[in-house]
Amino acid sequence: MDGLSRRHLMGLGAALPLLSQVSWAVSAPTDTPIRLNYNESPIGPSATARVAMQEGIAGCGRYPYPLQYQLVEVFARQQGLAGDQVQVFCGSKLALQYAVHAFTGPASLVVAEPSYEGPVEAAQARRATVHAVPLDARHAHDVDAMLAADEAPGLIYLCNPNNPTGTLTPTAAIERLIAKAPSNTVVVVDEAYIHFSEAPSCIRLVKHHPNLLVLRTFSKLYGMAGARVGLAIGQAPLLQALEAFDGYNVAAEPSLRGALASLQDAAVVPQRKRTNQHLRDATVGRLAGAGWRCTASQANCFMVDVRRPAAPVVAALASEQVLVGRVWPSWPTWIRVSVGDDAQMRRFEEVFFRVLQGMG
Ligand code: PLP
Repeated sequence: MDGLSRRHLMGLGAALPLLSQVSWAVSAPTDTPIRLNYNESPIGPSATARVAMQEGIAGCGRYPYPLQYQLVEVFARQQGLAGDQVQVFCGSKLALQYAVHAFTGPASLVVAEPSYEGPVEAAQARRATVHAVPLDARHAHDVDAMLAADEAPGLIYLCNPNNPTGTLTPTAAIERLIAKAPSNTVVVVDEAYIHFSEAPSCIRLVKHHPNLLVLRTFSKLYGMAGARVGLAIGQAPLLQALEAFDGYNVAAEPSLRGALASLQDAAVVPQRKRTNQHLRDATVGRLAGAGWRCTASQANCFMVDVRRPAAPVVAALASEQVLVGRVWPSWPTWIRVSVGDDAQMRRFEEVFFRVLQGMG
């Protein structure tokens, strides 16, 4: 946060805003610094979603339940589900947190390491035991070790593709986990990044597994992270357990309309997936060509082993206006890089090579 922009934003005599609010507000219009740190979309909502979102502003005087039901109906129809097997939340993180609150403490949570920390934070709030099982040598979830971590955990969390590595877990292994999990254990498969990959979704398994919960989000490929729309897919009693926390607090009408338009535009997923794959693989290829090891990502982020403590590298990149992701304590020499647009990736590479060379 530079002092000049902060003064500019605040104006004379304005109340002091929170620093976190200021930096976001100032950096959004110019996209400086380059933000490759939260696995967001560099392009935001699709053209059709933007039009729909604008139309939704007029409806903001009403609670948008009809649109919530419409979103459920459209998604359920597309996926061959019953209407009571889908629920909308203000972002998939909320559904995930509710699931952890509903099904852990005293029962434990089993996660991979490194993986998305959302469920661990929620379990800590519940004071539930967390079993963190390292990814295997191919950076897939070690499902047999996860099953062995606790005889009867409350919830097993699997992220496919995984955040932060972007790596996939083989479908057969996920199916084995779901089939072998104890009958009173809920398995959450988080598919926040599935659109970027070729992996088959686990949604097709919901009808046979009462304890399977699949999560989807509009925050990643659909470019709507700030609009806060996520979906939980599971059998009705499982979804009811989540709704018990906050069933009627749904996203705003512009967000719901944007989500609907995104689902109804068949071109969005293949186009964005192709672009992301091209940009990611080009950068990973150039890094690998220069001798840097990267994860085999199928998502909109990948990790690079910088072969030294990663936190100072993250700080050095930030001082050059290139923000990359946080460091996972279990992988202290790796940085996570989100896939931006072509110019952002070129700038990242240039700064990365220069910074690492300067560090010797
Ligand atoms: N799940 C994973 C794996 C994520 O990486 C994230 C956000 O980065 C979320 C869930 C939260 O997404 P949402 O914006 O839908 O709450």
